Amino acid sequence: MKKNIPLVPLILASQLLSGQVVAEDVSIAIHGGAGTLKREHMSPQQEAVYRQKLEEAVTLGHTLLKQGKSAVEAVTETIKILEDSPLFNAGRGAVYTYNGEHELDASIMDGKDRAAGAVAGVKHVKNPITLARLIMEKSDHVFLSGDGAEQFAWLHDIERASTGYFDNEQRYKQLLDVKEKLAFQQISPVHTDYKFGTVGAVARDSQGNLAAATSTGGMTAKRYGRIGDSPVIGAGNFADNQSCAVSATGHGEFFIRYNVAADICARVRYQNIDAKTAADTVINQVLKEAGGEGGVIVVDSKGAVSMPFNTSGMYRASIDTKGKLTVGIFAGE
Ligand code: ASP
Repeated sequence: MKKNIPLVPLILASQLLSGQVVAEDVSIAIHGGAGTLKREHMSPQQEAVYRQKLEEAVTLGHTLLKQGKSAVEAVTETIKILEDSPLFNAGRGAVYTYNGEHELDASIMDGKDRAAGAVAGVKHVKNPITLARLIMEKSDHVFLSGDGAEQFAWLHDIERASTGYFDNEQRYKQLLDVKEKLAFQQISPVHTDYKFGTVGAVARDSQGNLAAATSTGGMTAKRYGRIGDSPVIGAGNFADNQSCAVSATGHGEFFIRYNVAADICARVRYQNIDAKTAADTVINQVLKEAGGEGGVIVVDSKGAVSMPFNTSGMYRASIDTKGKLTVGIFAGE
């Protein structure tokens, strides 16, 4: 009698023998910002638009990972989808500075060798995440800012944003609103009653490498060249294969002071605890007690995903190692 030899183990065995790595245990998580997000403030249509965009982005990243692409490639391409959407405070949808301009920040980190690239305060770059990656891969530096960063970008043919690309009526109204509140001292200059809207992605690829990427327009009405946590390696973004990859969103000043992303990974590495426990502790205890609002997305060395936040909502989505898709906006869902 002819024996039915299962095909899959045969394929896996031949791939292993040929040195090819099998695309398994890949996972990805993304965020589109945390903040005051309540169901009653959103129409079902608005909600559906956000969910659809989050699903599109996370699915693209996951497909790349399944094709055997690197975690760095997956997070870059995923972030570009979110940067190109006016829904989020990054790239196209970046918030206005106090002077009615846009100053964008972004960072990326490769967990394999802790290579990192970051950019702050650029005004004419369409996709700041591609510039952050270029800095990581093609410069001797980690962090470039302002005019110098743009000089480096043009030298390498990074795409410019066309005139008016960042114009956005709704964001402009937000600026006027914040300025009015500032004038009447109803909020502090680092106000917190807003949807933050930064975007981020973390992934584990089929080789077991981790990566994290974060991109933002910062905070509405920011002044004096203010830079938040998003481009600060260790604060808003961090990746190390030995522990985890983290991208943050929230009130940047707190994330910088508490070195949030690196602290979560350090707890995993040195306290021998899982990434979910470490992230929960930092977000819901350390940061909360300090008065810092926001959240993080985390993927650990095995691909386990966690997405804790201490605000009423965080735009988020993930596809875990089993291929299960999760999309959420509000707390408790
Ligand atoms: N963390 C960002 C910043 O402070 C804001 C955000 O998450 O939306 O610049």
